[in-house]
Amino acid sequence: MCEYKEDIDKMCWSYSRLTSFENCKYEFYLNYIINDNAEYLSEGNFYAEVGSYVHEILATIFNGELTPDEASQYYVDNFDNNVFYKTSKSTMDKTFETCADYFANVDFGWLNDYEILGVEKEIKFKILGYKFIGYIDLLLRDKKDNKIVILDHKSSSYPFNLDGSLNYRAKTTFPKYKKQMYLYAKAIVDMYNEYPKEFIWNHFKDKKMAKIPFEEKEYLVALDWLIDTIHIIENEKDYNATLNYFYCTNLCSFRNSCEYAKTVAWK
Ligand code: SF4
Repeated sequence: MCEYKEDIDKMCWSYSRLTSFENCKYEFYLNYIINDNAEYLSEGNFYAEVGSYVHEILATIFNGELTPDEASQYYVDNFDNNVFYKTSKSTMDKTFETCADYFANVDFGWLNDYEILGVEKEIKFKILGYKFIGYIDLLLRDKKDNKIVILDHKSSSYPFNLDGSLNYRAKTTFPKYKKQMYLYAKAIVDMYNEYPKEFIWNHFKDKKMAKIPFEEKEYLVALDWLIDTIHIIENEKDYNATLNYFYCTNLCSFRNSCEYAKTVAWK
């Protein structure tokens, strides 16, 4: 029996919690089992902070508290009060400019086709006694066919080539991101008793929206993955570290305290 069964039994699951375990079991252990430990302090990173800042401005626009015209200046004026972590100067400059350009040129005319059902909407559901929580960036109902759409803002690159095929860089992340959407769809089914018709990803850095149709088969696979992953975590004993240069040195919340990352000789 897993030594941390009590902690795991109390958990409210989320997509990031599950993928954290898949990404590096030791990070999951530090973050969710022995969290609040002075030796292993969780910290953010530049990429996540910029993403959160853009999400926050978009939520403010969709809530009607900021006009799209005001958003551009707001982004520039408040950037330094919202993004504190640093990375290379060239990355910081490029990211700042790309997002500034997005807010300066974004056109929300497409929104006229939709009714907004929720902004940063908290969703919760229970499955086989396991609790799950998530946040939908923008929940919409298409006025044309009255169907529900789940929209997610993404800082990652637009995943499709010109001919509609999947870009090779998105081969790993695309199915993972879709799984997150399908888990959120479970809450929609519980709330509205209907499947969403599609997921829209707002790839704001590329100024492109990707539309992914909902497929029941993929929905059921995602729910199976959720349950299977929780069962694996329930039986985990070792919490081994998975080392990956970019992740361990730029993104991991424990990149400055993890003993494995500190001692490895990166090639
Ligand atoms: S720094 Fe790397 S090995 Fe250490 S916890 Fe983070 S992801 Fe895992």
